[in-house]
Amino acid sequence: MHEQSLVRSLLKQVETLRCEYDGGCVSEVRVEKGPLSGVESFLLSGAFELLSKGTAAEDAILVIDEVPLMAKCKLCSRDFEINNFVFRCPVCSGNVKVTRGDEFHLISVSFSDEPIKNERAPGVGESEQASIRTAEEWDREANVDSSADSCLIFKRDGN
Ligand SMILES: [Zn+2]
Repeated sequence: MHEQSLVRSLLKQVETLRCEYDGGCVSEVRVEKGPLSGVESFLLSGAFELLSKGTAAEDAILVIDEVPLMAKCKLCSRDFEINNFVFRCPVCSGNVKVTRGDEFHLISVSFSDEPIKNERAPGVGESEQASIRTAEEWDREANVDSSADSCLIFKRDGN
């Protein structure tokens, strides 16, 4: 289905941005869509809900901005909005060239500070575990060893 492949590439873009900006959960994904894009809003929303499951965008709201269908008259160069798919200049009835309204693309992504509950998120649980283990080790070493040794261990953990 057309919308599903669009959403797949959309989610890929969102994930790339999330990594780039070190974002948390995705709270909003905003797209722009023209009447000639061939994209159905309800199919898009359905596909987004389905395919975002298990990703950082699972709880995100998909906002679809509808852009107007715009054209330019080839005769009098007038710019106007096309209503009811009438592709004629309203002034001189000349032929027109569509200038806007066939696009579909990502506008913005918003992130919340909430950590990702997604299990597929790389290393979240692992790094938590690792730091706890290290702290325990450090406590144990610090109690047993001389202050000089624990100082060394502390430095190594810092790196
Ligand atoms: Zn015209």
